[in-house]
Amino acid sequence: MILFYHNDSIFMPKQKIKTGEEWKKSLTEEQYDVCWRKGTEAPFAGKYWNNHEEGVYKCVCCGNELFSSKTKYDSGTGWPSFWESLKQENIRTETDYGHEMVRMEVLCNKCGAHLGHVFDDGPAPTHKRFCINSASLKFVKS
Ligand code: FE
Repeated sequence: MILFYHNDSIFMPKQKIKTGEEWKKSLTEEQYDVCWRKGTEAPFAGKYWNNHEEGVYKCVCCGNELFSSKTKYDSGTGWPSFWESLKQENIRTETDYGHEMVRMEVLCNKCGAHLGHVFDDGPAPTHKRFCINSASLKFVKS
């Protein structure tokens, strides 16, 4: 279930690995809505908010390694939350002015998929909270 969309347009990255239509074919509807229409999944409903297994969270679109279970924590929000990304260069952030808020959007730096947002209320040592949609991730158990 998708809570809301950023707007009705389809956002495509600068690095076009696939066209919008091609992504649509290779993803579920929910994955597509989150990753390429900047949707937000309902809290406590995704696959990974309560996942405590050890492993790596990859981009569901391109397989880029995004987050480790080592930096995952229970934020109480109902979305998978991390205090750090696996590698700084594997993600990028952009200012998001949608929904009458100013937030930092988090994107896959390889394919440009929308992942979620990052906030400044996370735990030490970074005090960051990467609030990520399960639908944008593929967990690989180690
Ligand atoms: Fe990606």
